Amino acid sequence: MNSDFSNRLLDWFRQHGRHDLPWQADPTPYRVWISEIMLQQTQVSTVIPYFARFMQRFPDVAVLAAAPLDDVLGLWSGLGYYARARCLHRAAQQIMQQHGGALPRTLTGLEALPGIGRSTAGAIMTLSHNLPVPILDGNVKRVLARHHGVEGWPGEKRVEAQLWELSAEHVPAGQAAAYTQAIMDLGATLCTRARPHCDDCPVAQTCRAHELGLQEALPTKRPARSLPVKNTVFAMVQNHVGQILLQRRPESGIWGGLWSFPECPPEADVVDWISDKFGSEVELVSRAPELRHTFTHFHLNIVPVHLLLRRDGLAIRDQGAAQWLTPGAATSLGLAAPVRRLIDEFFSNRGVANT
Ligand code: SF4
Repeated sequence: MNSDFSNRLLDWFRQHGRHDLPWQADPTPYRVWISEIMLQQTQVSTVIPYFARFMQRFPDVAVLAAAPLDDVLGLWSGLGYYARARCLHRAAQQIMQQHGGALPRTLTGLEALPGIGRSTAGAIMTLSHNLPVPILDGNVKRVLARHHGVEGWPGEKRVEAQLWELSAEHVPAGQAAAYTQAIMDLGATLCTRARPHCDDCPVAQTCRAHELGLQEALPTKRPARSLPVKNTVFAMVQNHVGQILLQRRPESGIWGGLWSFPECPPEADVVDWISDKFGSEVELVSRAPELRHTFTHFHLNIVPVHLLLRRDGLAIRDQGAAQWLTPGAATSLGLAAPVRRLIDEFFSNRGVANT
């Protein structure tokens, strides 16, 4: 239905909305899908160059489905949350096998694909087919929670259900695509997380948070919880021509399918561990300061240890999941974020043939 809220947003959008985002030109279901997945947890300005490179390399579902996963992860490198890229790849293959290469045109069909939740499915239906289907991404949650004064953490089922209802109430038939883009833009540009620009907001006169001064308090923050801490050792083994040893991680688990340094259990002696695992002798060069990487469910404390392969010892052979690579070649692979950082810090300028 057309509410006063949606009419005012549409008027504002015509004048002040963003109309030149790359995925808005030719909003096919495929382009909307890729952009929506990239935009999860990631800023528009970061996504734009990734989206351009992705579209150039994978212009349609068929090309994406046929590509090696490593190519997809390589292009995703730096965007984080790599499960998104693995799901995209799996979903593309499923679309080829089960839907003849076209994205399904129903919510249930879309939601059955890996990595597509209700909001992403809604965005594909609305933005590419102009169908009046609600979405509830982070920006929309924030605008609705503030405008309607919805209290409670949106991760709670009850609160989420209330926000979905509100979202559905406002979507205008016939102008669903423009409205959806408008509310997302309002959240991204005016109703921002910190210091929203209420003076310029087209719906300020009916906004509960504005009226009551609750902009900073809404949406309600997730209740604090302390994360458990895990420890690991990264064995950064280098050979005498400057190559480094990387291993491809299993598909399941953290950094699934990405390349990483061999990980030694923290209680083991790393030199003995390498010799047991790879049958080669190494010398300890240095231990770098511990660094921390935080996942949704735990902190990972990493001790990076730099080791040199002994010239007179047996070499470690390339074997499926373990490869010797120059730092330059390594950085074109899909790498776990701390691994990329360590390669830059430790190996990029150490006189290695960086190709
Ligand atoms: S008035 Fe302020 S808090 Fe309310 S929707 Fe607009 S920008 Fe957000």
